[in-house]
Order: sequence, then C-alpha cells, then structure tokens
Amino acid sequence: MKLVFATHNDNKLKEVRELLSKSFEILSLNDIGFKDEIVENKNTIKENSIEKAKIVKLKTGLDCFADDTGLEVEILNGAPGVFSKRFAGVNASSDDNIDKLLSLLKNKSNRNAQFKTVVSLNLNGKIKIFEGICKGTITMKKQGDLGFGYDSVFIPNGSKISFGQMSLAKKNKIAHRSIAVNKLVHFLTNVY
Ligand code: IMP
Repeated sequence: MKLVFATHNDNKLKEVRELLSKSFEILSLNDIGFKDEIVENKNTIKENSIEKAKIVKLKTGLDCFADDTGLEVEILNGAPGVFSKRFAGVNASSDDNIDKLLSLLKNKSNRNAQFKTVVSLNLNGKIKIFEGICKGTITMKKQGDLGFGYDSVFIPNGSKISFGQMSLAKKNKIAHRSIAVNKLVHFLTNVY
C-alpha cells in the first residue's frame, strides 16, 4: 500500500519509514513534488495534525497521514506544546529552543515532561486520529547529538540516557511517534 506522509522533515521520515517499511511504501512531500509550506497555526497539536492531513489530501488528491508533535513540560503548564518549533521565536533553531527551555528550568527540581504526537490519517476524506505519548524528564544540559529537535535534553522514563544518545532503533522502540504510528499500522492492517 502506498501512503503519503505529509512532512518535509527528513528526520521524521526516516523514523516512520523504519516503522512502516515492511508493508507500506511511504512517499514524502518531497517525493511527490509538493513544495508548499504547510502553515501550522492552530491552537493544539491535534488541530495542526488534522489540518496538515486535510491540506495535503485537498491539494494532491492522495490518501495521506500527518503528524504533529510537541514537548509538554509540567512546570511550564504544558509549554512549549504546540509552540515547540518556534518556542524561542519564528525562525528559532533547535539549539535556540533548547537554550530557552533550559534557562526556564534553571534551578527547578520538577523536570517532568512528555512528548505528545498526534497522527492524523486521511483516507478518502475521512480523518482518523492516533495519539502517542512518551513521558520523561528534561536534563540539566544537552546530552548527545543524535536525533533532532529536543532529543538531546529529554530522558524517557526507564532510561538513563537521552534520546540524543540513543540509536534510532532504540528511540523507535519507546518514543511518542512510534506509539502513534504503530497504532496507525494496526488500524491499516487489521481494521481497514
Ligand atoms: P512538529 O511541529 O511536529 O514538526 O514538531 C514541533 C517541534 O518539536 C520541532 O521543533 C521539532 O524539532 C520538535 N520535535 C518533534 N518531534 C520530536 C522528537 O521526536 N524529538 C525531539 N523533538 C521533536
């Protein structure tokens, strides 16, 4: 089965292809020549995810799925959440966002956080939602340079190392996006 993954993010594509490689051919937006930037301007992770899956279906006619992910920090009342990508400003780099996060958490003992992913599948115009949550803690400083985004400052519960120190295979066993994508795979293989 061929499915479009509504992303321009090569890191996400790599993760998801690794999870879906057996039964599905995943085409990215670059693969199908979709160059438009999809604006993520909704108020929640779920709404952004649904919007992306709707726009790509509308503009290409192809069945697709989209993901939106945010890091929710307990002591910051769930921030940066839906603003994770632009936490330190519209054109912020991952390092800028991490620096802001670590400075807000300076001297804070509660470092609980979670990654939340919402995957929206658009099949023939019908949307189906799959959620994945990975709980953990924010480190005092960056650890590791693997992965992307906030990986180097997030230690998932049950682990001693950050996502930034983990191989992709290891991250994919426990992470938010894998949980959501595995639910998607289960739906596509068993229910659909
Ligand atoms: P997006 O809107 O889903 O692309 O992600 C929002 C922000 O969260 C971006 O800054 C990403 O770098 C970050 N992000 C998304 N997924 C992950 C992840 O698996 N690990 C670390 N950061 C992530």
